[in-house]
Amino acid sequence: MILQDFIVSTRAGLYCRYGDFYLDARQPARIAIISHAHADHAIPGNGQVFCTSATRAFMQHRYGPMAAGSFSCRMYGEPFMIGKVRVTLLPAGHMLGSAMILMEFEGIRYLYTGDFKTQEDATCERLEAVQADVLITESTFARKGLTHPQPEAEIRRLSETQHPILLGAYALGKSQRLVHLLNTYCPEKRILVHSGIAPFMKIYESFGKGPWKWEPYNTKIAKRGEKDIVYLVTPLSFKSYSFDLNFVRAFASGWEALQSKGGIKLFLSDHSDWQGIILLIKTVSPKEVWTLHGDGADLKEFFAGSLFVKILE
Ligand SMILES: [Zn+2]
Repeated sequence: MILQDFIVSTRAGLYCRYGDFYLDARQPARIAIISHAHADHAIPGNGQVFCTSATRAFMQHRYGPMAAGSFSCRMYGEPFMIGKVRVTLLPAGHMLGSAMILMEFEGIRYLYTGDFKTQEDATCERLEAVQADVLITESTFARKGLTHPQPEAEIRRLSETQHPILLGAYALGKSQRLVHLLNTYCPEKRILVHSGIAPFMKIYESFGKGPWKWEPYNTKIAKRGEKDIVYLVTPLSFKSYSFDLNFVRAFASGWEALQSKGGIKLFLSDHSDWQGIILLIKTVSPKEVWTLHGDGADLKEFFAGSLFVKILE
């Protein structure tokens, strides 16, 4: 029997009382399973953290000794027990080390996606879905008909200018994907990487990604204003450079509202679009879908009468 309270949304995060653990705890918890290292999913200060080894490396870089009391790293596909709940991490395709979390209890399978995408991404493990009775899914872009464009076509737009480009992106995951795409599809571009991003580049490379063609940010080169240079910077630096007119600006995001006004639009998302979510639901073939992080209303309407959809938050 599906337990409607197997995972409940609390102020402290998603809680499983049957194993007494949190998924992506929002407040420090005694036991937390962390799906991936983005700061809205991975906070410091948990007691025991279960995650992949890449997630641990990112968290230790970001939080130092405060990252967690202890880490219990697990391989994809290898089950382990927390209390009476059997847990398995599966690749989520969102960023390096990102995991979906399969929980089995009393014969029922609950699959929590964390953040995920079905789109191709050479910088991380490809999503691996399995059948489950309950799919607990993020719904960031779960808007009927919303489609992300192909990354190749998007990134090639940066080759349309030889002017220096100021490229803003989240430091972890998105930036490494951009460097890979630029190396592959815009090989003429010399990439200068901001100091807030460079350490994450090195962690990716230590996990066997790349090697990629990039160099640390260098103000001398920046001032020379050479052709075909891309300055890859964090969102904060992207804002602080807003006065500089010498750059062509672009901000990589799946959101229209975050696109650079007057610059180059660059739609690149590490979340699934509508088709990806539908594809995942078909693959997982759940009896129920519980939605998180976004708006599950379109999914509820789309599956009305054929599949039970519950909006968790
Ligand atoms: Zn994320």
